[in-house]
Amino acid sequence: MNCIFCDIAEEKVPAEIIYRDEHAVAFEDINPKAPVHVLVIPRKHISTVLDINENENQLVGHLFQVANVIARKKGIDEKGFRLVCNCNRDAGQTVFHIHLHLLGGRLMHWPPG
Ligand code: 5GP
Ligand code: ZN
Repeated sequence: MNCIFCDIAEEKVPAEIIYRDEHAVAFEDINPKAPVHVLVIPRKHISTVLDINENENQLVGHLFQVANVIARKKGIDEKGFRLVCNCNRDAGQTVFHIHLHLLGGRLMHWPPG
């Protein structure tokens, strides 16, 4: 299977990795949309939110914990930040390996575009 995020997780493709553990990896987005723009991914390949199984609930929860740790590390915890997970075409998903966008360091607008 050809997946850029699997390749990044396996360190076959370079990325600015800022966090790694047994189950998750986080790295700087190549095209940042905010002063802080980090992607948090599971090492396991899951294409979209629609493909998450019940036995992956703990793994998905772990991605939020990793985002929590990184938000604190980046110093955006008090001011706030946004977590985004796009699914399929209307949301603009372009990489089909689930990821949380951790966005912060500026005021976010609502509703999103
Ligand atoms: P999506 O649109 O699927 O929610 O988000 C995909 C994100 O991955 C985009 O923000 C894009 O900039 C980022 N991205 C795509 N390819 C690469 C890559 O090779 N390296 C890194 N670091 N980010 C990537
Ligand atoms: Zn993948």
